[in-house]
Amino acid sequence: MLIVQKFGGTSVGDLDRIQNVAQRVARTKAAGNDVVVVVSAMSGETNKLIGYAEHFSKNPRREDMDMLLSSGERVTAALLSIALNEMGHPAVSMSGRKAGIVTDEVHTKARIEVIDPSAMQNELQKGKIVVVAGFQGVTPEGNVTTLGRGGSDLSAVAIAGALGADLCEIYTDVPGIFTTDPRIEPKAKKLEKISYDEMLELASLGAKVLQNRSVELAKKLDVNLVTRSSFSEEEGTLITKEENIMEKPLVSGIALDKNQARVSLMGVKDRPGIASDIFNALAEANVNVDMIIQNKAHNGKTNIDFTVPKTDLSDAKNVVAKFVDNNEVEAESYNEAICKVSVVGVGMKSHSGVAAKAFSTMAKENININMISTSEIKISMVIDEKYGELAVRSLHSAYELDK
Ligand code: ADP
Ligand code: ASP
Ligand code: MG
Repeated sequence: MLIVQKFGGTSVGDLDRIQNVAQRVARTKAAGNDVVVVVSAMSGETNKLIGYAEHFSKNPRREDMDMLLSSGERVTAALLSIALNEMGHPAVSMSGRKAGIVTDEVHTKARIEVIDPSAMQNELQKGKIVVVAGFQGVTPEGNVTTLGRGGSDLSAVAIAGALGADLCEIYTDVPGIFTTDPRIEPKAKKLEKISYDEMLELASLGAKVLQNRSVELAKKLDVNLVTRSSFSEEEGTLITKEENIMEKPLVSGIALDKNQARVSLMGVKDRPGIASDIFNALAEANVNVDMIIQNKAHNGKTNIDFTVPKTDLSDAKNVVAKFVDNNEVEAESYNEAICKVSVVGVGMKSHSGVAAKAFSTMAKENININMISTSEIKISMVIDEKYGELAVRSLHSAYELDK
């Protein structure tokens, strides 16, 4: 079999843990498999590098940030390869560039455009273990890019797809995908399987156990994806097609996203094209807009509220400032003390009352809901940040996910 194994930050968090990873990889290889390993930076490393940059500038060039941040993953890749060779298992380490990962030019959140797997294949043919630095690629012009926070998951899935791997294993610090973040609700249960679509919603709605774009790509390329712990032998969670899951629960999981901020534009002139103007400008600035509410106009004026990731807020503020200058807007305001809690499950497609239960659960806890959005398989509510964990635990028990 050809197996891609990805190890996240905690799994490679210190030298002993890198040694432990080397042993696990060596076992997989010794069992007769071809192995490509994708690694993250050692835990805390990416944040430390961001801190270094912030020491000099509030607004560093994104190209420089990518040069800086991509180094963390390269350190781990090199160390793991050194450890494997020392153990008598021939290995090579590769940067994203060497691994053939070509991206677009959106620095700090680039998209993978193509992968030329030939360098990896050459080394595999020689019997080597290939260790790739995750989270990074290179533009066609040769500039280093990174793939957004948590992006090593995407590297692993994309490489598994490009090589036609039989399996892509994501090793992390929890034994699989749980009904909610086990750090918030210790009664959370591990799921044996979850569908790509539900996992994509959970990941997009804040469950950082997998990066959302990695799930999207796994679905598109039909990659067999398993999440499991690097600290135990416990079987993990299979992320697979909905038809492979016999028993479909009404609700599969609850997610909490604290990386949310609300932007409010008050007294906006109500004319055709106004929404198009503001949201196109935000899209051009690569700001991800999530929920949008536009109120009924009154005296020719309306209010537009929307949410963006906190990490996009400074870009959003720049766009809004220009918009306010060029249009009649009475006032704008920003609120970072919010969070989004979401209930996800494919069973919602065929059952009613799921949303009503979410709202009554919030009511029982006396938590005010500021914004709501729903899709076929999810309900999201924006609430005050300080009630996030309480809301997760209450919903978890209301839907009997601890049973
Ligand atoms: P890595 O460094 O291995 O990429 P992350 O920190 O990105 O790991 O993701 C793992 C973390 O995701 C867990 O420690 C857990 O707190 C969190 N998490 C959030 N939601 C879930 C969930 N539904 N199931 C499992 N883990 C979750
Ligand atoms: N090191 C990067 C991050 O912390 C990428 C990753 O770990 O997946 O976001
Ligand atoms: Mg991660």
